[in-house]
Amino acid sequence: MVVIGGGPAGLACAAELAERGVSVALLEKRETIGGRAQDLSCKGLVHCRQCDVCRVHRLRSQVLSSELITVHTSVELEQLERNNGRYRFDMVRPKDAIDLGRCSRCGKCVEACPTGAMTKVGGKIRLDRGSCRSIQGLECERCVSVCPVGAIDLFGEEHLSVNGNAVVVATGSLEFDAAEDKRLGWGEVPGVITSMELESFLEGRREADIGDGKKLAFVLCVGSRSSRMGTPICSSVCCKYSLRQALTLKERFPKLSMTLFIMDWRGLSSEDGLLKELASTDIQVLRSRPAEIFAEGGGPTVRFAAGEDVFLQSYDSVVLSVGLVPDTDDDTILQLAVPRDPWGDLKDDHCSERGIFLAGSCRGPKDIGHCVSDGILAAVKVMKHLEADHE
Ligand SMILES: Cc1cc2nc3c(=O)[nH]c(=O)nc-3n(C[C@H](O)[C@H](O)[C@H](O)COP(=O)(O)OP(=O)(O)OC[C@H]3O[C@@H](n4cnc5c(N)ncnc54)[C@H](O)[C@@H]3O)c2cc1C
Ligand code: SF4
Ligand code: SF4
Ligand code: SF4
Repeated sequence: MVVIGGGPAGLACAAELAERGVSVALLEKRETIGGRAQDLSCKGLVHCRQCDVCRVHRLRSQVLSSELITVHTSVELEQLERNNGRYRFDMVRPKDAIDLGRCSRCGKCVEACPTGAMTKVGGKIRLDRGSCRSIQGLECERCVSVCPVGAIDLFGEEHLSVNGNAVVVATGSLEFDAAEDKRLGWGEVPGVITSMELESFLEGRREADIGDGKKLAFVLCVGSRSSRMGTPICSSVCCKYSLRQALTLKERFPKLSMTLFIMDWRGLSSEDGLLKELASTDIQVLRSRPAEIFAEGGGPTVRFAAGEDVFLQSYDSVVLSVGLVPDTDDDTILQLAVPRDPWGDLKDDHCSERGIFLAGSCRGPKDIGHCVSDGILAAVKVMKHLEADHE
């Protein structure tokens, strides 16, 4: 069995198949598995807000420790073939940059590296490809020139192939590119950040002008429910994650003033614990879709309508809560010829007849919990397909 995509849906599917005794090759194009959840923060400083992020970490450990699952990361598809109902994926991936057989562990490459990409961990030399200048297309290769034994090859590749009687496509979704909605000022107006950038702030991986005594606004439905942007459907996840982000911030910074600009709450009943918690705070909720965010006095100013009136309000920071959109350029999907609906999400239409099953947010926006259930359901369908093959 081949599962493509190591996000919550792919992990849940692989884990379920392994539980049922099926061998799985899990293909992931990023360097690590976990999907978007590996970049998300825990939203429960004092008490758990059931965001499910830690559930993905648990699934990840389960998958990595399973003897029936082989994880292939950093892979790129070269060729796909189907013969007698079996799929064969030929892939390429970067080879380990350090030849550990040759490396004398002298540490000269670590000393020469200007970015800290080369490190010595537990006596072994490691390369963080994401922070290596040469791999990012800039000039460097200092490590290569100082290595006395020629143990470093930054651009080596290796080829591998995997086979399977069925394929689960769990390739996920992308975040809406906030730069596309020019009126909202992302990349132009200082202090305007996306909800993914807020996740990095919550994780302590980036700075933001957010804290006690500051003013922060959230603008929801960015890249969702907008025919103008070509993204008419509701992303279904941003209401809940924005609410959790705001409540977590309130817990961390009780004197942070916050306003949420919403269209309406989707996927939340008035009895929902998150809305009850919101009502117990001083966070302001405005039912309005801001028309514009521009720079004034060094920070972002939001222009919005409420009733008949138009208002201008300045903040220290504005978070754009971006929705999930389909990745319509994914080459693997093109080669598998999986059909799409008018919005670009993948459709099941007759795919199972070809041994292809879909799971998670590649079928349409879904939160982690629904992606996990969808992954398990795909595994059950695969089992039926394999049983039918045996009969
Ligand atoms: C700012 C933000 C905050 C969020 N917070 C929450 C939250 O608190 N709780 C919650 O439930 N949800 C949250 N979500 C939604 C959550 O991220 C998604 O529900 C979830 O990640 C979808 O899981 P998935 O498995 O479908 O896809 P993804 O998480 O997108 O994973 C898909 C994986 O497939 C890989 N892949 C894609 N194409 C290929 C290919 N061709 N070959 C190999 N690998 C491939 C990708 O690299 C990726 O690792 C948030 C979303 C955003 C934007
Ligand atoms: S808030 Fe989210 S990550 Fe934190 S403990 Fe609860 S479910 Fe887990
Ligand atoms: S190429 Fe430069 S940045 Fe990359 S590991 Fe070598 S010394 Fe560091
Ligand atoms: S310079 Fe070469 S031999 Fe020395 S630690 Fe680095 S890779 Fe190993």
